[in-house]
Amino acid sequence: MNVIFLAVQGAGKGTFAKMLQDKYDYVHISTGDILRERALVDDEMGKKIKDMIDNGIFVPNDIIYDAIEYKITQPECQKGYILDGFPRNLEQAKGYDELLKKLGKELGVVINLTIPEKLLKKRIIGRRICKNCGDIYNIYFEEFMPEVEGVCDKCGGELYQRDDDNEESMNTRIKTYYEVTEPIIDYYKEKGVLKTIDSSQGNDIVFKEIENILRSEDVDN
Ligand code: AMP
Repeated sequence: MNVIFLAVQGAGKGTFAKMLQDKYDYVHISTGDILRERALVDDEMGKKIKDMIDNGIFVPNDIIYDAIEYKITQPECQKGYILDGFPRNLEQAKGYDELLKKLGKELGVVINLTIPEKLLKKRIIGRRICKNCGDIYNIYFEEFMPEVEGVCDKCGGELYQRDDDNEESMNTRIKTYYEVTEPIIDYYKEKGVLKTIDSSQGNDIVFKEIENILRSEDVDN
């Protein structure tokens, strides 16, 4: 079973993709990660991609489609994969359908993780990251607070706030996400493959719901 995760940043997409990967060996395919890795190569293409990522510009579709085609045809993806960061607009959703047709593959299920905006803002604005080991904390949620303010529980490193985790940047990111993603949600709703989960329920409950969806889809097919 293949999964597409649609979710605004901060809704827990990465967390659930990792949980699926650990438990079921699904391959987590993040276009952002693939592009960041490609950008490290010191050639013309690497430089172009780095420039686009740094400026938040969409990388051209043909590069994205090639990367996706390469990934999903690898043997380890035959059991199932999770797409994260793709498709990012309606054009890519349609392009992906074409690619699947060409490869004779099924779309699978599209999971839309929703989260109330107020909670999302607390998750993003309250996020603190360890400079040393990358561990993530949140100053607004008891269970994610560090024991000592500003200090990592694990390694004693200094905690910092990402530059883009501020109110203004966050509002822009959220607005852009909804503008671009809403048409994709409608597109998959019309196809009858969209499942929506409230991501604010707690990780265990959300993960169970994801598992239930995958199980019922497997039975249906
Ligand atoms: P992300 O890690 O998903 O936030 O992606 C980081 C950057 O990679 C984005 O700002 C884009 O420049 C590029 N990128 C990632 N996924 C895509 C995609 N599906 N289409 C075009 N550009 C993408």
